[in-house]
This record gives sequence, structure tokens and C-alpha cells, in this order.
Amino acid sequence: MTAKVKTIGHNAMMQPILIEVEAVSSKGLPGIQIVGLPSGGYRGTVRRVRSAIRATGLRLPPLFYTVNITPNVPIQASSDYDLPVTLALMSAAKLITDTELANRLFLGEISLTGDIKEADQLIYAAEWCQKSGDDLICGASINNLAHLFADLTCHTVETLDQTYRYLRGLLQLPGPSPTTSEPISTVQPVIFDQIDGQDLVKRALTVAMAGKHPILMIGSPGIGKTLLAEAAASLLPPLSQSDEIELRKQVTASQLTRTIQPPFVSPSTTVTAQSLIRNLTGDISRSRSGILFLDELLCRTTAVLDSLRRPLETNETNTLFILATNPCPCGYYGDTDQACRCSAAEQRRYGRKLSGPLIDRLAIIVNVSRTNNLIRSSAISESKEQQTTAFEKVLNARQAQLNRYKDENIYNAYASISQINLKHYSENALNLIDQASASLAHSVRARNHIIRLSRTIADVDLQPTVEAEHVAEAIQLRNTSSLPL
Ligand SMILES: [Zn+2]
Repeated sequence: MTAKVKTIGHNAMMQPILIEVEAVSSKGLPGIQIVGLPSGGYRGTVRRVRSAIRATGLRLPPLFYTVNITPNVPIQASSDYDLPVTLALMSAAKLITDTELANRLFLGEISLTGDIKEADQLIYAAEWCQKSGDDLICGASINNLAHLFADLTCHTVETLDQTYRYLRGLLQLPGPSPTTSEPISTVQPVIFDQIDGQDLVKRALTVAMAGKHPILMIGSPGIGKTLLAEAAASLLPPLSQSDEIELRKQVTASQLTRTIQPPFVSPSTTVTAQSLIRNLTGDISRSRSGILFLDELLCRTTAVLDSLRRPLETNETNTLFILATNPCPCGYYGDTDQACRCSAAEQRRYGRKLSGPLIDRLAIIVNVSRTNNLIRSSAISESKEQQTTAFEKVLNARQAQLNRYKDENIYNAYASISQINLKHYSENALNLIDQASASLAHSVRARNHIIRLSRTIADVDLQPTVEAEHVAEAIQLRNTSSLPL
């Protein structure tokens, strides 16, 4: 029996899967055959592994070695398996023992001279080993992930020689030393409070951000909808650990040294429903814990609009959905500066694209009216303080939600009504919800939006009990009368 060397891969759902590598030797012409690596990848692996073993001063007896990798691994990741393949060969050659390989997991590319390089799938190895308790042996690039895996047992190696001597008990190895990483973007975001006016819309965006309530902004072209959405990004709370792990799975090993910021994804108007909702690589997946901004909503196809329904309802990616649209095809319906040129029929056709089921899934609907949207450059120093205030409101609400939902990654917009708990609503608040539902002929979904929104408004204002004033503001923030005709 030969030892199985443990390593890692991942499935289509981006979950780690255990991969085992074993090697046997037989008499015959000396050579190495690898089963389980695609042919394009395997020749490179054999060349690197042979050269690295030689550079380390070790000798494989001149036999025919068959290496088996199960399950098969894809070609893009094949170099990640250099280290486990080498160790399986060394085990077959009796250079290392089963005991020395037990309870350890190996991952890493090896250079021709035996240096251990970074591995694309390191984050999966760390995720697996943190759960299984296996000791992860890998290159030093794990240092960039160490802050995410406090319970990970891990040893970093620089060369194959070090790995060999560590396994033989001839060398002590350091654990990971977490690094402080560089920000991935140096572009300064537009600061929310530097936008002049638009107090209602800014309040709406703060509440939306605090509880992850999907928001639709309606207003004429050039009125500042995009600027407001971009500025909302400066209110994003820091990523949770689990969200950072999921986001980091989407970047390559060479990008690991950078700090991951919550994403701001703004798909073009020609984006298809398919590329919007595609699992893992779609725009919605990429906007995890960040913002998905869909401008020109009603210029998009019905398929795109319909595809939004499910993510708006379940929001598995903890995205804040910010949608924006012009009020009519020409864009100037209700504008104070320009007259609308649309016929009544054009307006109706346009408005009909926004279906009842889609409206039902929008928590906040606000009108963005014409006002001075210029950023006040003179206000930068004073706005720093305001920025802290707006950002702190979001953080306060986030903390209230963490307390309420017991540290789970749940936001008010997606909590059930029993989780939100109507016991913490005053009698007046509940009466107002009932009255509004009756007079506005609210659907169950619309009524629940008001319940959830008013909870967030109270959280933003650090109020444990939801009062009638919070409900009144929630009703104001869901202004369905501003929807296109
Ligand atoms: Zn018009």
C-alpha cells in the first residue's frame, strides 16, 4: 500500500473538495505517468517535479512511477498539485513515510529549482483544513489569508528541501504571519455627505444600505442618480469574514496581497439576464456584500427585469440592489426645467414594463427631483464629520441586526417577520401599519416592506422600539405614486 497525499480542489459551487494523490513504482523503463491530470498539464508537472527533486539533491530509484490523482483536476489548476505529486513520488520511493504524511494537506506549485510558489486554490485548502484540523503545508502566500482563518494549523515552506526536512523532523517551520494588505483600489469614492441637497434620497439610501432594502430611484437624466448610487458605496460596512472568503475565491492568487473592498457592480444596459444571474460569475454574484447598480432599468429587456425577481426576493449574496430609471421614455416627465415629449400611449407602454411582481419586491421607491447636485469642494473638511455620522448610522443598524439575529449574516430586508418580532413595535406603530395597508391596498409583500423598513429606520436611529414615526417614514420611503404611469 502506498500513502495517500491529501490536497484540495473545489467543485462548481466553489466549495472545497478533498483530492488524494498516490503513486506506485514498478519495474520497467524509468518514467513518470500521471493519471487524473489533463495531458496538457501533466507534461509540465513531470518536468517541474523531476527537476525540483534533482535540485533538492534527492534521488528517485530508476523505476516506472504511476501517479493517480482522484478525483481528476482541471487543467487551469494543475500546477497547484506539484507539491502533493512530488511527495507521493517520494513516498513511493520510500524517502518519506506514511506517518510523516498523515493529518497533513499539501498544495503548491514548485519551480524547476524547488521553490514553492503560490497556489490559486489556497483559500479552499485553508477553508478545508480549518474544519478538518489537518495541518496545511503551503507557500508563504497563505500569509495574505491568515487573518480570515484564526483556527487554521498551517506551516509555510519556501522550498521542497524545507518541506522534506520538516516532514522528517529535521526542521521546525513557522506558522503563518498575517500581513496587512494593500487596498485593491486607490480611487477615492465620492463621499456621500459631500452631495448637496437630495436629503430625502440620501436618507433613503442610508436606510437601504443599513438594512439591505432594494431601492428604486426615479428621476430625469443627469439629475445625479448615478452619483448618488456611487456615493452610497462609501457607506458600505466592512465585509464580514464569510463574505470576504467568498469574494476572495473570485480573485487569482496573484491578487491575494490586496485588500478586498465591497464591490460596486454596474452592468451595462446591454447585459443579458443570463450574465446577470449566472451562478458564481454573474454580475449579482460578483456584487456580494456590495452594490449592484442597475441604471436605465426600463430600457432593459423584459427578460432582464424578470430575472431580477428571485435575487431581489432571496438575496443570497447580501447585495444592496440600487435600481434607477427615467420617469418616461424622453426622461422629462414631471421635470421642472424641461417638458416631456412623450405621448400618453408611450408613457403607458413604458410604465407597463415595471410589472406588479417587480414593484412588489422593491422596498424603497423615491423620486429624485432637480436640485443642485454639485459636490462642494469647500465642504470636504466639514463633511468628514458628516460622513462619519452617515457611515456610523449604517454601522449602528448593522450592530443592532447582528444582536437581533445572533451574529448571523441576516439583514432586516431579508429577515422573516417572526425574526423581526412585532413585540418590539409600539401599539401606535402597529395601528399605523394596519391603516396604511388598508388605505393603500397593500399586498402582503408591500406590508412586510413597511414592517421591515420601519425596523431599519429605528435601528439607524438607535431606537429599540419601532414607533409610529418610524412607520410614517417607511411609508414615505415607499412612494409608489412616483412610479412611471
Ligand atoms: Zn417623456
